[in-house]
Amino acid sequence: ASAGQALSDSLNTSERTHFVLVPLMAQGHTIPMTDMACLLAKHGAQVSFITTPVNASRMAGFIDHAAETGLTIQFVELHFPAVEFGLPDGCENADMLQSRDQFKNFMEACAALRDPLGAYLRQQRPSPTCIISDVTHWWTGDIAREFGIPRLSFNGFCGFASLARYIIVHDNLLETVENENEIINFPGFPTPLELTKARCPGSGSVNGLEQIRKNINEEEMRSTDVIINTFQELEALYIESFEQITGKKVWTVGPMCLCNQDNNKMAARGNKASVDEAQCLRWLDSMKPGSVIFVSFGSLACTAPQQLVELGLGLEASKKPFIWVIKAGDKFPEVEEWLAKGFEEQVKDRGLIIRGWAPQVMILWHKAIAGFMTHCGWNSTIEGICAGTPMITWPHFAEQFVNERLVVDVLKTGVEVGVKGVTQWGQEQKEVTVTRDAVETAVSKLMDKGEAAEEMRMRAKEFGVKARRALEEGGSSFNNINLLIQEMGNRANASG
Ligand code: UDP
Repeated sequence: ASAGQALSDSLNTSERTHFVLVPLMAQGHTIPMTDMACLLAKHGAQVSFITTPVNASRMAGFIDHAAETGLTIQFVELHFPAVEFGLPDGCENADMLQSRDQFKNFMEACAALRDPLGAYLRQQRPSPTCIISDVTHWWTGDIAREFGIPRLSFNGFCGFASLARYIIVHDNLLETVENENEIINFPGFPTPLELTKARCPGSGSVNGLEQIRKNINEEEMRSTDVIINTFQELEALYIESFEQITGKKVWTVGPMCLCNQDNNKMAARGNKASVDEAQCLRWLDSMKPGSVIFVSFGSLACTAPQQLVELGLGLEASKKPFIWVIKAGDKFPEVEEWLAKGFEEQVKDRGLIIRGWAPQVMILWHKAIAGFMTHCGWNSTIEGICAGTPMITWPHFAEQFVNERLVVDVLKTGVEVGVKGVTQWGQEQKEVTVTRDAVETAVSKLMDKGEAAEEMRMRAKEFGVKARRALEEGGSSFNNINLLIQEMGNRANASG
């Protein structure tokens, strides 16, 4: 019923622009690309969504939804050469890798999709208008050049972190600093930003990835347009600086998660939820509005078992209702044992523990939720922003420490739990750095009755309202999606 739909209806297939979306097969990268596919299709573009058999079966809920609602999205399943590159058969997603060392094989197997993807695209009518590629798929640059079309890059970061990362890569900041604990300066960053080397995106890199990293950076420097899952009203200053410093055009088209409006679709995001959604909703409905803390650390973070126990004890001490998503159960039987030995029973009146995949957006946007304890992955962060809830920040790795600074220092919608070390992806954390007291303190700061906490909650609410406005008809991101489709169509017409 939107103007986008009307635009879509008024275009016939031959006039359609054809966007090719190539996500990295990792939940934090694929999920926003599925949202992007949805938004582009709703605004009139034809979309080819590149995936592989295992990933397609994991996102079956989304594929069904797209078919039911008549979205012009073609799901293209390419054979993923896992075995050919030394991975177990069917290992087609970053969250299925058994160790950090396999990441190189995974990236090489991804790069081998170049020829089959090129072959597929050569047969398509209308021929592709542009490629929106995950930044890590450097090899899509060759395909874009073959077709003479733009390759827009998407890295899943916000504007604030994209700018920090660009400066790091462009100025070689990590190579010039020896000590992991040394503070990095970000020349040109528009507001003060202090991070140690260890907390910068790109540090703690995986061995053997040097060449791939070089290819990624080179291709990224070449791309003229960047898609960012954010909205102008949230971080205009950083988007503007990014455009000035990089000379690239930024398209802010988010928060893309807002394309999910009904509970069924929200629950089907990424994986099938490991909890019954109706039961989860009943539990939430039974809680007072604005009373529950939601605790979830994304799809990849690996928190030490002792740290999980300490976190649980902190939640218990807070005496607040909570939903806690635990992914470690399979890997750490001791956590499961501890839960079963009494903890779960003890908190059963006010604690819901979800083992495995949670319907995160459905939970976050429920009125019972008062706060979100998050690892600060950008998708989670922006989902929290849309929910209008303040956050407790618990970054683990990658650009999560940068996002923490945005939430705590710039938006002022969150409090730090006070993480000490960095827990790299695929490397288990060894020690407890966040005590139960720190957890309890952070929860009470968030729920506090005082003026500062009240202001933080108000600010969070206001950003939630602005987020929704950005994607409504006439909003900044809504308009940008239309402009993006127009602009790509014009460039295609101009070139051929
Ligand atoms: N997610 C979810 N259920 C879970 C864990 C994660 O739906 O149990 C979704 C979450 O809503 C977000 C994405 O997975 O959209 C995780 O992305 P993020 O950037 O927050 O973190 P990452 O997993 O990449 O570290």
